[in-house]
Amino acid sequence: MAHAYLDNAATTPVAPEVVEAMVEVYRSVHGNPSSTHAPGRKAKALVETSRRNIAGLLGVPSRTICFTSGGTEADNHAIQAAVQCLGVTRIVTSAAEHSAVIRAAEAAEGKWSVEVSHVGHHVDGRVDLEDLEAQLAQTEKKTLVSLMHANNEVGVMLDLEAVSALCRRHGALLHSDTVQSMGHYRLDLGKIDIDFLTCSAHKLHGPKGVGFLYINPQLRIDGMIVGGGQERMLRGGTENVAGIVGLDRAFAHAHEHMGDHESHVRRMKQRMADGLKTRLPAVVFNGDSDREDRLYTVLNVKFPEHPNGGMAVFLLDLEGVACSGGSACSSGATMGSHVLRALGFHDPNRASIRFSFSRYTSEADIDLALDAVDKVFAPAEEAS
Ligand code: PLP
Repeated sequence: MAHAYLDNAATTPVAPEVVEAMVEVYRSVHGNPSSTHAPGRKAKALVETSRRNIAGLLGVPSRTICFTSGGTEADNHAIQAAVQCLGVTRIVTSAAEHSAVIRAAEAAEGKWSVEVSHVGHHVDGRVDLEDLEAQLAQTEKKTLVSLMHANNEVGVMLDLEAVSALCRRHGALLHSDTVQSMGHYRLDLGKIDIDFLTCSAHKLHGPKGVGFLYINPQLRIDGMIVGGGQERMLRGGTENVAGIVGLDRAFAHAHEHMGDHESHVRRMKQRMADGLKTRLPAVVFNGDSDREDRLYTVLNVKFPEHPNGGMAVFLLDLEGVACSGGSACSSGATMGSHVLRALGFHDPNRASIRFSFSRYTSEADIDLALDAVDKVFAPAEEAS
């Protein structure tokens, strides 16, 4: 049976050049980067070269990159460090953030009595910057703003430069979860003054279980995981050398070919959006996710009311199409989408499904998905 993988916002296939680079590390580099002998130095050199390469593409010094186990750890570290090391007593965030940020903010509220407030959103899902400014002007409390660059479900984007300017004007720190935009957009940190950014390799055709936290060089923070003093005391634990090399390779490839990848992915998304509108004119794109200025890898579709709506992700899977009906939780169950609820797009009578694309998505994948949608959402009397 033919398959179409349209869940690239959940994770992306690992690119062959990344696999090759990692296999080479597993084959020929076995030292512990903390060991001072030659095999250890070889491993250390790979980690430091990767750090330098990634930092170079972001326009920042190497020491600002702290390798982590991925986006969740990096988000948690930024939020914990802001509270525990930088005097933050208030967090302004959004109810449409990834649960890594929502839960980390809730934990800070519960454990350290930090005040947490949520920004408002426009009807199209974008963060209301006037509300953000009003909240920043409200108190003298040291504040961390934590807002994602690109929403993983509906693709609304944040104007990072504008938010950074607001934060600086009001003396607030800024963390942005850039897990969905890193490797898809060029972030020049020479131009954007920001305190923390997070990246996860598996969203850009790298391996799972590795990512990084960017930490503004002006800040001094402690590690969240203590141990052997790795990562300049910021993260104890023997480094995931092959994973870090894989992340470096994926990051470099994404940046080298960004223009080509972007135009291909945009074409695939457009084909999907056009095909859906032709077949089911009543579809709505949540968050205007079909617009050009939204995250170009994601299309979030609200389908017309239909008896198969509640089972649609499952039925599409049976047709060979992998897509998503909300963030997957670790049990594999879909819990409905807190993002759609937070942004007012949830409709109990209409299924919303996220299709997300990558440079490996083909026209045949899109056509297969459209045919599957046709079957699942066929007029009720024809549906079996
Ligand atoms: N932040 C966003 C926006 C994400 O989409 C994800 C992944 O789903 C994460 C954070 C978590 O990243 P990781 O899977 O590397 O822990």
